[in-house]
Amino acid sequence: MTIATINPATGQTLQRFDPYSSEEVERRIIQAAESFHDLRTTTFETRAKWTRAAADLLDTEVEELAATVTTEMGKTAKEARAEITKCAVALRFFAAHAESFLADEPLDEPYDVGATRAYVTYQPLGPILAVMPWNFPVWQVIRFAAPALMAGNTGLLKHASNVPRTALYLDRLFDRAGFPAGTFSALLVPATAVADILDDRRVRAVTLTGSDAAGASVATIAGSKVKKTVLELGGSDPFIVMPSAQLDQAVEVGVRARCQNNGQSCIAAKRFIVHEECYDEFAERFVDRMSALRVGDPTDELTDVGPLATESGRDTVEKQVAEAVGRGAKVLCGGQTPDQPGWWYPPTVLADVTPAMRIYHEEVFGPVAQLYRVRSLDEAIALANATPYGLGANAWTRDEHEQRRFVRDLEAGLVFLNGMVTSYPQLPFGGVKRSGFGRELSTAGIREFCNIKTVWAA
Ligand code: NDP
Repeated sequence: MTIATINPATGQTLQRFDPYSSEEVERRIIQAAESFHDLRTTTFETRAKWTRAAADLLDTEVEELAATVTTEMGKTAKEARAEITKCAVALRFFAAHAESFLADEPLDEPYDVGATRAYVTYQPLGPILAVMPWNFPVWQVIRFAAPALMAGNTGLLKHASNVPRTALYLDRLFDRAGFPAGTFSALLVPATAVADILDDRRVRAVTLTGSDAAGASVATIAGSKVKKTVLELGGSDPFIVMPSAQLDQAVEVGVRARCQNNGQSCIAAKRFIVHEECYDEFAERFVDRMSALRVGDPTDELTDVGPLATESGRDTVEKQVAEAVGRGAKVLCGGQTPDQPGWWYPPTVLADVTPAMRIYHEEVFGPVAQLYRVRSLDEAIALANATPYGLGANAWTRDEHEQRRFVRDLEAGLVFLNGMVTSYPQLPFGGVKRSGFGRELSTAGIREFCNIKTVWAA
């Protein structure tokens, strides 16, 4: 894939970037390894000061960075600003809490293991490679960098090829905030360069957010080199609505959950599984709201849905819908690609989707909702789990028994009851099945890239 800034709203190529030479990549790996030696012995207080300075820079530069993000991947200006503000919050969260998350953990009864003192201490691993996607081009990176750097690791970013300006902004951010030069560095390289970087003995681990195909490829290489891997991959999250649900709220949140980020979020609600007692009412209101969304210029404050980020992404969505319709799916709204420059696709609702169709099994990365009618709780759970993915799950019910069943039986890394699946720095984030493994954010996330060192003393 060419490294370039292409405005998805117009299809116009604004800037092309030459990939870094192997000498430049080597220089940056050396820097990441050298700055690790400095960083690992700095105090939490010092790292927190720099991390808070990075948050301040994001707050100050939110407008400029948001404009870059909108230009490169088409999310609305208001969503771009919200993403950047959330990054500043996460940076401050880890600045405040990393020390307690990584505090030594003494064994209460050291004599049981024949010691006078025994404890666990958390230490950084070294340079970590982060392979990141374009859909939340700032958040996905900061979600990795904030805990990783606070733990004392350094970072090498291989960002998606369609967001190079954002990558270069992030490349400078941590230097400007005061971290030692090279603590966090972007590598403008194609995906084909990842194998060699991962092969480098100085690179100690890898995290990837993106498609399951990319994740499987990177994890295969990392596995052969015995390197720690965290994968945050796709999802086809269910949004289950039971008869006791607060329907107005479920409709409103459901539309937002499907169309946030122009429909390109791993935790977007993609499959709406609705009990037959409230199906007709939900479907009618949901289709009305989806049809009423304003699609258009992402820089316009009134726009709800902008273009898809890439031409190939738009083409994939178009093909997924066409294949489903060809096999009998019913289009309740949308479903037609507009004839205009740029990578547009309208908010779309499909019914009568069956296992014979690709979209039943695949992630749909665009504003396309599938509506399913079910007769019981068991059927809802079975359908929710009938996907290779297991990232998030939304369940709407006020019935406590049903809530317990959803928490127990949904195959997902995140279950949100009566609310939209979202990530919070305070809570672990990640999935099961083909949605990946390992966790980001919270105590669990910061410990992923630490050596959990056991200390035993006679
Ligand atoms: P990819 O998974 O292909 O890209 C994500 C990142 O991985 C990019 O930096 C990409 O680099 C890199 N990459 C891709 N293939 C490899 C590989 N074999 N080895 C190493 N690195 C690799 O996402 P796409 O943009 O192609 O989107 C395809 C689909 O993936 C979407 O339609 C969606 O279903 C899913 N996706 C899910 C995301 C999520 O948040 N879970 C985010 C993005 C996509 P480069 O850009 O240079 O190819």
